[in-house]
Amino acid sequence: MSQVTRGMFMLGSPALRRLRAPSSISLRNLAAVGSQRKTTVPSISKMSPMAVASSSGFQKAMKTTLSSLGIDKATGITKPTTIYRNLPYPEVFKHEEQNKEGEVTKNGTFCVSTGQFTGRSPKDKYFVKQAPSDKKLDWGKINKGVAPEVYKNIYDKAVKHYNTNVDKMYVFDGYCGTSPKSRKNVRIITELAWQHHFAKNMFIRPETEEEVANFVPDFTIINACKIVNEDYKELGLNSEVAVVFNVEESKAVITGTWYGGEMKKGIFSMMNYWLPLDGVMSMHCSANKGKDGDTALFFGLSGTGKTTLSADPARYLIGDDEHGWDEDGIFNFEGGCYAKTVNLSRENEPEIYDAIKRDALLENVIIKKNGEPDYADVSRTENTRVSYPIYHIDNYEPSGMGDHPKSIVFLTCDAFGVLPPVSRLSPGQAMYHFLSGYTAKVAGTERGVTEPTPNFSAGFGAAFLTLHPTVYADLLQEKLDKHGTQCFLINTGWTGGGYGVGKRMSIKATRACVDAVLDGSINKTKFTKEPVFGFEVPQELPNVPSKVLNPREAWSDKGSYDATRTKLADMFKNNFTKFVKPGMTDYTAYGPE
Ligand code: ATP
Ligand code: MN
Repeated sequence: MSQVTRGMFMLGSPALRRLRAPSSISLRNLAAVGSQRKTTVPSISKMSPMAVASSSGFQKAMKTTLSSLGIDKATGITKPTTIYRNLPYPEVFKHEEQNKEGEVTKNGTFCVSTGQFTGRSPKDKYFVKQAPSDKKLDWGKINKGVAPEVYKNIYDKAVKHYNTNVDKMYVFDGYCGTSPKSRKNVRIITELAWQHHFAKNMFIRPETEEEVANFVPDFTIINACKIVNEDYKELGLNSEVAVVFNVEESKAVITGTWYGGEMKKGIFSMMNYWLPLDGVMSMHCSANKGKDGDTALFFGLSGTGKTTLSADPARYLIGDDEHGWDEDGIFNFEGGCYAKTVNLSRENEPEIYDAIKRDALLENVIIKKNGEPDYADVSRTENTRVSYPIYHIDNYEPSGMGDHPKSIVFLTCDAFGVLPPVSRLSPGQAMYHFLSGYTAKVAGTERGVTEPTPNFSAGFGAAFLTLHPTVYADLLQEKLDKHGTQCFLINTGWTGGGYGVGKRMSIKATRACVDAVLDGSINKTKFTKEPVFGFEVPQELPNVPSKVLNPREAWSDKGSYDATRTKLADMFKNNFTKFVKPGMTDYTAYGPE
């Protein structure tokens, strides 16, 4: 049994569960975050032994060779002479400094610029069209096909680059998925130390070299970010950027963009391919669990609050972005978090603020003359970010796993200010909203998005779904049924009017809604049926003004509210027509009237 597996075994034992959740809990800092009912859970890092998500990785710097790792045979990369594999954090830091890849900040972190691209390039993502995966992939605007020759052209350029211009390269070997049953071995090849750092923060770090002595990757990413595809037109591509996945060869190649999120969400897209084909649900959601083990998931598109709301001092963080749900329960895909830093404050988000310390990696944050990060400065991009290993959050869950979820929250950031801050969904409504995947995009993580626009994205993550959305919907439906999971819709967006008139819901009010969902107290309140959308809206909750709970009351112009609600309802209806097809369960009746 590997060290990691053994670690998780121990964590599953009742003795350890008790150890992690003693009955004496201290009152949390009320001034900082709000609600009086909340208590803090004890910090894990102070009390539990090593386990999978808590590993900081190899302790010794190791040089290795391409041939001993089998990289030469598997990829054709043969020339780089210095190969660093899974560098320990202090070494990563040294390399970043020596390579002059960015700057050291006052709080001891490293800050890089990701260059021209400060977000993912979804329009430049491709899959090689070939058998047998061509029968399974959901081809379209999201999963675009390229011929094997086009892939070969780009792949060969990447390998040639490594064989001509690169002496020193970095190899991260680790896992995607904490569950030993369902996880995949991933190998990330990069030329830049900070990209190695990013991979180390975000994927699951093996603890020792022995553990990965006979490592065979299930998938390899070759990051050749410095390659610019000038001949993209002849290749029939969209731009100089190309991120191409070859499912049959278990490889992907990244060219033209330095943005680290391509590696993270690239592997996520592959997980969304592999897992459902094995009957395991894969989800774009964050997850945490209470002291009694009650697990909650927070689905939501970018900027809706997955990372912000899952970092909760009263609960153990399982993960902030990507999870699987198999027959044993929930498991994180990742070993770290990727938080937005725009306007980050200790007052509003203390857990995330305090996670930004040595070994965290800042991206595109402007650093003041005195070395302090300026989170209010968005002159480079709105999408400023930090990645950090998950154990930087005090009360993280070391196993990276949780029980079958008791509650599921769909987060939406409704820029129209129409949807209530919290609504209870029937099972049918849950499926309707899962397939709709509504939000209004605010300044975001994708190129060219600076103004809010409504966005429907199936599964709250259509950009990463490699199979047809109904595959995920069917899996989810089966699991909700089996485990009696309750679903809610939470609007973290506008109140008192739409974008430009009203304002964004306070994090405090949203947290109060989340608290009421997670402790079940919401079910004891009085609900009324929303007349257009049909879901149930609580009339009173602690720490949320009742005017805010009922958006129509919060708008000064009721006529304008009614008109906007009708407009939004029509958008839902129009969008949903694509999910009405012969042979598919029709959930239309669970949507707006
Ligand atoms: P991604 O998929 O891109 O990682 P995410 O769902 O994790 O996105 P967050 O990183 O949590 O989104 O972003 C939510 C942002 O909105 C944060 O910057 C947070 O400070 C801000 N915010 C403002 N008001 C609220 C609110 N009421 N609830 C949640 N977040 C809020
Ligand atoms: Mn996030």
